[in-house]
Amino acid sequence: MPRHLKIGDRRSLILILSLLLSAGFFATTLFGYFVSKEAIRSAIIGQDLPLTSSNIYSEIQKDLVRPVLISSTMAHDTFLRDWVLRGEKDDRELARYLAEVKLRNNAFSSFFVSDKTRNYYTSEGAFKQVSDTEPRDAWYYRVRNMRDDYEINVDPDLANRDALTIFINYRVSDFAGQYIGATGIGLTVDSVRHLIQEYQARFQRTIYFADATGNVVLYGGQKGLARDLRSRPGLAAILDRILAERSGSYQFLDGGDNHILNVNYVSELKWYLFVEQNEEVSLAGIRQTLYVNLAISLAVTLVVIFLTHLALGRYQSKIEEMASTDKLTGLLNRHAFSILIDKLMANYRRNPQAITVLLADVDHFKSINDRYGHRVGDEVLTSVAHRLRWTLRAADFAVRWGGEEFLMVLPGCAAEEGRQIAEKLRQAVAASIPCPNMPEIQVSICIGVAQFDGIESTDHTVNRADAALYAAKAAGRNRVCLAGASAPNASQS
Ligand code: GH3
Ligand code: MG
Ligand code: MG
Repeated sequence: MPRHLKIGDRRSLILILSLLLSAGFFATTLFGYFVSKEAIRSAIIGQDLPLTSSNIYSEIQKDLVRPVLISSTMAHDTFLRDWVLRGEKDDRELARYLAEVKLRNNAFSSFFVSDKTRNYYTSEGAFKQVSDTEPRDAWYYRVRNMRDDYEINVDPDLANRDALTIFINYRVSDFAGQYIGATGIGLTVDSVRHLIQEYQARFQRTIYFADATGNVVLYGGQKGLARDLRSRPGLAAILDRILAERSGSYQFLDGGDNHILNVNYVSELKWYLFVEQNEEVSLAGIRQTLYVNLAISLAVTLVVIFLTHLALGRYQSKIEEMASTDKLTGLLNRHAFSILIDKLMANYRRNPQAITVLLADVDHFKSINDRYGHRVGDEVLTSVAHRLRWTLRAADFAVRWGGEEFLMVLPGCAAEEGRQIAEKLRQAVAASIPCPNMPEIQVSICIGVAQFDGIESTDHTVNRADAALYAAKAAGRNRVCLAGASAPNASQS
């Protein structure tokens, strides 16, 4: 039997509290995350990528624009043009000139190709002749036919190594503007590549140069970089716009990740500088923070819920106890009885099993009150109540029914077993000393026993037990009497 009745359910309160707490934490944490995410994104778009781009740009200017200027100077050099127009007589003269240019500029090679003789001159003299059937000489015929003054040619075989080899091929015209050959220098540049690599390692940015057709022409040696930008679907979709706009910020999806892109056109090289950042990588840090914050919120929510549960449980137990128990004896009161008996009857309908009701009344209690006073009477009542309670099984319940009357309900007990239990109770009370200070006080009870017949109302069962109790009193007290369809059947020890 419950020590007291549970009158409420605090699950809904705890649920509402949990929902409020988690919603609050969740909202603030997510809000913080999205604010940081937006701040990081606008920092990448507004500062990080443009800054990287301009640093790379100034480095590439140092490395590549200077050679363009040198080649331009060579192409406009009156010595070179005069030497050609005079008939390319002395190879050594030109070789000296080319050697000087090469040495002064720390170049890898310096050259001139004459359109008239197709001789390829280097600092060592006439090296060979270019031919339009030789694939390696294709560059010359390209330069010969192009409308621009010069081109920058990255050697495709050498471009993959650490040191990058580029050639500036500059058109040379005579004083009347007639094309007479191509000159320029070849040099290795590794500082741009190193800078690109450093940026990539530090900020996980992908940096490369692409030409006007969308092919990557210079990059930092990163593995897996697509050489044809159109092979990346997200980028391919906006590539034409990028190439037309020449500079700007863009975003595209690649492999499910959002990529932020900064593009700048380097007019001297006719190349586009791409600085690209995978946004997911830069968000890894704040995502980590998000998970930690969520975990902390969850932990705080759980602790608050647990403490609330404990506190509520304690108060609720107290209130339930006060509402359902009799103050003097600690037994259940009639209010608790009516709820418990309803539950028991509902169980009975699902699973019928015998229920027996005992109604006990203290014999000649009025005289104890009269003789020893009300306070002693209370002590005797409490003692009888405790004895009844502790002699019963846990599944039974005991109710203070009236002044000195107790009702006991024994689920799973038929009448005869109930009678035996009642007998045990009667003996236990009769053998007890209710007031240890006044051992002379003796007390006895009468008990009426009635088994629920399965169809009658509980009031009716209690009335039959009451009738049996009356019979026990009439038969001389300190007795147990079994109610029956026929005349009550008394037993006496
Ligand atoms: P019987 O053997 O026929 O039951 O006689 P009785 O004196 O016990 O019966 P009666 O009903 O005449 O007296 C019951 C008394 O119990 C009357 C009432 O004053 C007393 N009483 C009822 N409630 C309390 C209580 O809480 N404390 C005390 N001390 N006395 C109470
Ligand atoms: Mg009495
Ligand atoms: Mg009475």
